[in-house]
Amino acid sequence: MNAPTRRAFSTLLAASPIALAQQAPNPNTSTQRRGTLPEVPPFEAPLSFTRQPVAPKVRPFPMTQVRLTASPFKEAAEANRAYMDRLPADRLIHNFRLNAGLPSSAEPLGGWEQYTPGREGELRGHFTGHYLSACALNYASTSDVSIKAKGDAIVADLAKCQAKDGYLSAFPTEWFERLDARKSVWAPFYTVHKIMAGMYDMYDLTGNKQALAVLEGMASWADEYTKSKPEAHMQDILNTEYGGMNEVLYNLAAATGDDRWATVGDRFTKKVFFNPLASRRDELRGLHVNTHIPQVIGAARRYELSGDMRFHDVADYFWYEVVSARTYVTGGTSNGEGWLTQPRQLASELKRSVSTAECCCAYNMMKLTRHLYSWTGDPRYFDYYERALFNHRLGAIRPDTGATQYYLSLTPGAWRTFNFEDKSFWCCTGTGVEEFSKLNDSIYWKDDRGVYINLFIPSDLNWSEKGFRLRQETKFPDVQSTTLHISVDKPIELAINLRIPEWLSNASVKINGKPIDASASPGSYLTLSRTWKTGDRIEMELPMRLRFEEMPDDPKTQAVLYGPIVLAADLGTKGLAKDLIVGPSVPQIRKAGDIDIPRMASVKPGSNPLTFDMSGTSLMPLSRILDRRYTVYFMVV
Ligand SMILES: [Zn+2]
Repeated sequence: MNAPTRRAFSTLLAASPIALAQQAPNPNTSTQRRGTLPEVPPFEAPLSFTRQPVAPKVRPFPMTQVRLTASPFKEAAEANRAYMDRLPADRLIHNFRLNAGLPSSAEPLGGWEQYTPGREGELRGHFTGHYLSACALNYASTSDVSIKAKGDAIVADLAKCQAKDGYLSAFPTEWFERLDARKSVWAPFYTVHKIMAGMYDMYDLTGNKQALAVLEGMASWADEYTKSKPEAHMQDILNTEYGGMNEVLYNLAAATGDDRWATVGDRFTKKVFFNPLASRRDELRGLHVNTHIPQVIGAARRYELSGDMRFHDVADYFWYEVVSARTYVTGGTSNGEGWLTQPRQLASELKRSVSTAECCCAYNMMKLTRHLYSWTGDPRYFDYYERALFNHRLGAIRPDTGATQYYLSLTPGAWRTFNFEDKSFWCCTGTGVEEFSKLNDSIYWKDDRGVYINLFIPSDLNWSEKGFRLRQETKFPDVQSTTLHISVDKPIELAINLRIPEWLSNASVKINGKPIDASASPGSYLTLSRTWKTGDRIEMELPMRLRFEEMPDDPKTQAVLYGPIVLAADLGTKGLAKDLIVGPSVPQIRKAGDIDIPRMASVKPGSNPLTFDMSGTSLMPLSRILDRRYTVYFMVV
């Protein structure tokens, strides 16, 4: 790769003025803002775990009860599944077998999974963990037993590679000794977390008990490794990327009822990161994004299991700050894997590199969003979720090969770049196979009173416990409406809550063809409570309008939206060759050559739905631009 890998990036960061700038005073931490009393850092004292679960206000329907019907989402899911099917299990377990001293004649994988003496990928094994999660998610989404069987076979083979003390990895324990000695090593806990999460998902979503046993063994090994470390030394170890170790251990504690695993999870509380967040201070500049978001997801799980408000505040403030002050118009965040500036400096951030909006960051922010939404049922969380899903995630997978992206570059004149079939295996290739296995997730949620329609995606919901079924038919966003068809075992009284998005100025709803005399404001729900019977039909109009969004630090840099859909200018194919599209993690703009970037001009409707004309330049949804150059941001003159 020509762009810096994560490791090269962290080295760069360590040596760059950015890391030094982190030491400079943060305006958010001024004594004026905090008052005059000295602040006690919320996570200063040692943690102790007491189980006191917090009941969610709303819950997602399990993926087994929701099925996608024909749409670009279903096409994306199928392209991903075809890619997963082409990856043989023996290649995915090859490095684990070699590491355990077992024979393997499989063809080695490349990229970050590479295991050639002298050129060892230090994250090797990470993708196999993601792949297990993707098998489990795919099975939950489709009920296809062949993908479960493949996941089961990988679990069984990995179990044979597990050491007696529970250690399971595609690299030796010596790397954890390097971690302990604070010698150079990439991210061993980050990698082990992915394998643990894969085992957890195989247990949670497919009922594989062997996966649970393997996971408990790995957790036991992590317990032994961490419990002997003095706290200050463990906090130092946490300065090396470790991702969602806390999250998977809290998940294991929840699944088994054993608090031991939560106590191990607590040892992965990075206090220097959590303290400012719990005090509502943005000290995110200089941090690596993709390995910190999962820590916050872990904080959200810790709050859900214990009711400890400090963890609630970490997750709540982090989400608010990232979404409101560090997120581009597409719903993406990060630059070169990090946050390089103070908050609300996105135009300045955008100029620093082409490596904006890493895909796995969006994946993990959406995951965090689901937790926060479940606490409150506030539909505004889905304004963000919808934006990230329709603009950043949809379109990030090739329909022909199922390959996915690393960064979604927002540099004017950029294009999409994709992974190689079997020699990339970036972090985002891993979250990619997971994400596109679960596109039916979170469309529908529920509480004791009824169902919440949060996304306008063609799909079927089967609430079997209630004998209630719902088919959503829509061509949204090409057609600005959606229709819900209801069928029931017997007439049933419940509430159907329609999300009224923030971009919708005027919601109009009909039941069985008759307009209803009720309204709800943008960013709320319109609740329809009645006794539903088979054949009932709800029609919802979703009129969209053009909108312009400014960069917070430069009102002259603007993006164009139509409803929630980010429009991009189609800038053609100048300089694009296949080797600039497949393989590189970012567009190499100098190699393709500079092109003229249009300035903002008046926007008029084009000849097709969702197309527009801007003074001779054609605009269309960013998600539909493939193998062509584009710009999302325009200068206003
Ligand atoms: Zn990534």
